[in-house]
Amino acid sequence: MTASFILSGGRILDPATGEDNVRDLFIANGRIAEHPPAGAEIIDARGRLVTPGLIDLHVHLREPGGEENETLETGSRAAARGGFTTIVAMPNTRPPHDTAETVAFVARRGAEIGRTRILPSGAITVGRKGRELTNLAALAGAGAVAFTDDGSTVQDDALMRRAMDIARDLDRPIMDHAQDNTIERQGGVMHEGDASRRLGLPGIPTEAEARIVRRDIELAEATGCAVHIQHVTSAAGANLIRAARARGLRVTGELTPHHLALCDEDIDPGNTNFKMNPPLRTRADRDALRAALLDGALSCFATDHAPHSADKKARGFLKAPFGIVGLETAIGVTWTLLVRGEWMTPLDWLRRWTVEPARVIGLNSPTLAPGAPADVALLDVESPWIVHPNEFETKSHNTPFANWTLYGRAVATWLAGRLVWKETTL
Ligand SMILES: [Zn+2]
Repeated sequence: MTASFILSGGRILDPATGEDNVRDLFIANGRIAEHPPAGAEIIDARGRLVTPGLIDLHVHLREPGGEENETLETGSRAAARGGFTTIVAMPNTRPPHDTAETVAFVARRGAEIGRTRILPSGAITVGRKGRELTNLAALAGAGAVAFTDDGSTVQDDALMRRAMDIARDLDRPIMDHAQDNTIERQGGVMHEGDASRRLGLPGIPTEAEARIVRRDIELAEATGCAVHIQHVTSAAGANLIRAARARGLRVTGELTPHHLALCDEDIDPGNTNFKMNPPLRTRADRDALRAALLDGALSCFATDHAPHSADKKARGFLKAPFGIVGLETAIGVTWTLLVRGEWMTPLDWLRRWTVEPARVIGLNSPTLAPGAPADVALLDVESPWIVHPNEFETKSHNTPFANWTLYGRAVATWLAGRLVWKETTL
């Protein structure tokens, strides 16, 4: 059963067509309609933005195996509330996405829940242990849209080269969490620099990222495989990606809202919600990342939504697991800093949450043109809201943005024409 809707008088933003215009939008039979459908529910969109649903290339949904932190159900709700209609699920579940069976389970369960499109990634190596390749063709056949061992970088260059050869033939990108274990001693909990020395905490050096980015670019050039660097944190990493793109290589990079908003000077060692991997780096890195986003070296945002239960995060800065949730603050943090901060136009901002991530995984550009699937978000970017983690739909509340005042949130989200999130006051 599908309902039809008229979103009345909103500001339509469509990066795929360049449209930025006030008009009505029609939804019928799961698609954007050309004409107003009879008997439609009318939604007052005046003063709001009507956008294609957002895409997040980097989400940890924890199921199977980590349901105390998040499930495919709660993660789907968080995505819908965050304005996301397509998310890519990372492979570090238990078991990991290293068999066709697990990949197919995540895809099937996501479709059953039907609140957001869950596209599974496939692991590059068996058990994400970096020793033996998975059956990449079988994973792709089961629905894997990209290959990554996110969280545990493949260290073996020859193995990564073989993975890229196969991924290229399967027309799937390799996504890499860039961290060289020969430099990072595996004990670091934050960026290695002045702030870590002041706090007396073990550090993760920038070179750990830069070395793997350099390696991956070399292998992308050698194999012709598309390579996407996940959660880039450093000026060095962004500069390498910019140079590779200038040479025409198939290399992209993503920026998280937290690496855009925060740096190592902001870390409160009593708050483990500032602990994530890769870590927050220096103020200069943070500024370089913003510049890289503006000039296109980093083409898209991604959240690295990484839910952890409160008891795990209560183990102190040295022992707590890495990661923070991000789906429900992504619009607010990035809109507030970049559009309200007058660094970007609304269309440029939106392109980095829609058209650009779609391009990385080879999806059609999301659009509000008639005939397109009605994956739509209705955004309020005018009224401030305060981040109250207890109100999140995600099962975990580990965010460094608690009590921040933000502008920008989804007040309603449609997936294939079905209303999957709506604020009670709407
Ligand atoms: Zn990662």
